[in-house]
Amino acid sequence: MNAPAADVIVIGSGFGGAACALRLVEAGMRVVLLERGPWRDTVPVRSMGISARAPLPHGRRALLGLLRSVRHRWLPGGRLTLNRRGLFDIHLDRGLHVVCSANVGGGSHVYSGLNLRPPDPTWWDGIVPGLDEATLAASYARVFARMETREPLADDRLPNTLAERFGANPAFDVAGADHELGMGLRFPETPGQPRLVRTADGIERWEARAGEEGNLGSAGGGKTTLDFAFIAPAMQAGLRVLDLHEVRRIARVAAGYEVHARNHHDGRDDTLHAPRVVLAAGTLNTVQVLLESVAAGGLAPMPRLGERFGGNGDFFGYWKLDDTARDLSASLPAHGFVRLAEPDPLGAGREWPAIAEGALPPPHQLPLGRWVSRLLRHGSFVAGMGADAQDGQVTLHNGRLRIDYRPEQSDIFARIRDAFRLIGERSGRRIYHFDTPITVHPTGGACIGRSLDDGVVDAEGEVFDNPGLYVADAAAFPKPVGGPPSITIAAWGDHVGERLAARHAQPRANT
Ligand SMILES: Cc1cc2nc3c(=O)[nH]c(=O)nc-3n(C[C@H](O)[C@H](O)[C@H](O)COP(=O)(O)OP(=O)(O)OC[C@H]3O[C@@H](n4cnc5c(N)ncnc54)[C@H](O)[C@@H]3O)c2cc1C
Repeated sequence: MNAPAADVIVIGSGFGGAACALRLVEAGMRVVLLERGPWRDTVPVRSMGISARAPLPHGRRALLGLLRSVRHRWLPGGRLTLNRRGLFDIHLDRGLHVVCSANVGGGSHVYSGLNLRPPDPTWWDGIVPGLDEATLAASYARVFARMETREPLADDRLPNTLAERFGANPAFDVAGADHELGMGLRFPETPGQPRLVRTADGIERWEARAGEEGNLGSAGGGKTTLDFAFIAPAMQAGLRVLDLHEVRRIARVAAGYEVHARNHHDGRDDTLHAPRVVLAAGTLNTVQVLLESVAAGGLAPMPRLGERFGGNGDFFGYWKLDDTARDLSASLPAHGFVRLAEPDPLGAGREWPAIAEGALPPPHQLPLGRWVSRLLRHGSFVAGMGADAQDGQVTLHNGRLRIDYRPEQSDIFARIRDAFRLIGERSGRRIYHFDTPITVHPTGGACIGRSLDDGVVDAEGEVFDNPGLYVADAAAFPKPVGGPPSITIAAWGDHVGERLAARHAQPRANT
């Protein structure tokens, strides 16, 4: 392939990669973005003029588009790829399963739309010198503005709120629960009457429609996804996007880096070159690319690579509410955080974890029969989150990725289990859950540190001993966010892009 000339190659188009790429092109750098997933067929992407689009899973053929690949240490080669245009990627392992997705726009298509800063307002302080809350403040502001984040208001007249459903039960504290969630949605200007609108970048999108903005994607664009919120303006400023390009390895060469990618359009291998590379493939994928590249001798050794990997305390359950009076799937993707009214429900000194409640996919999106449809409509999912010990280890064994993680070493899981049990008792409706935690918010593995002795990247995301190579996603986070992390990942991506551009962008001659 004739590689396009680039100052920077960005790998992965999720929260970290999209925010970083936009920052780089705004500074005048020539950037190529490699994404293993396809463009999704949504109203905004159509209005961008993208012709090759893959459908979001929907209707009778939905199950075929649901899964991209499954990774497990016992599978041949460690991975089974089912459908290169599939939505979700699942890594099953001992102690922790990891779920992510593959699209231009990364996890923004499947996430629940929660745009929140870390529960600890001093989260960035004290990690390493040169990084603190003040340093990241402008990046958060830019990202919130692009996501059009705002809290639901009483005037929005949303269906199935926690207050509406639990306000009469004195065991629950619902005061403010419906208005505390920053969400990356375009709320209808006239409540209950969503319209087709145009964004400041000239993109068409629908205002949010209850039941249409969930974890199987937002076909109308009511949920703000990165493809049109970050990548479209970046393309207007010169970004080149190569979809269905999966990076296998990176190697240091005289003039920078060589990136080897499988082009899933034609099945061939492409090699691209650039003086600088930003990895933002989503925590576990970023760690995998680094491990494979080091193992192949392409990158200088990183002694701490794979260490301090965790799952953000994520622990999911199904709340069998049997609320047959309502269709709970016809809601916004998240309802609010569930809290009990009594002080210290888990006992003194045992903090109540963050427990978000949200809608399951509406049955018309999935052909799953009447029994499952009932479960989707009349129950909800609950997601416990909090700081885990982030003490897992990711390694490669004969080319297979392995996570060693021991949930019993993190007390957050016992607290969430106890909270689920209490919520079930107080509501009279049980929460069912798996025993092994499933995370959609992995962190760590290529952590920020002071040097090669205690980390993999520095305060600007640059990999120690591999100048010009950067990590712009949550693989760099040395501790769990303890809540929904995407806005923090995007702010980090923006920060990495800003610092890289400040050091390396050349003023462009006016032509
Ligand atoms: C069901 C669900 C609900 C969620 N809800 C929320 C929520 O409400 N709020 C919140 O903050 N977070 C939520 N999340 C988590 C959120 O999706 C992630 O935190 C976020 O997407 C991570 O951003 P990222 O940039 O690190 O990675 P991603 O968004 O995963 O982006 C990485 C991209 O890199 C691509 N890629 C991977 N490997 C390669 C490779 N080798 N070559 C090229 N490209 C590659 C992937 O295809 C992907 O598109 C949710 C996740 C799920 C699954």
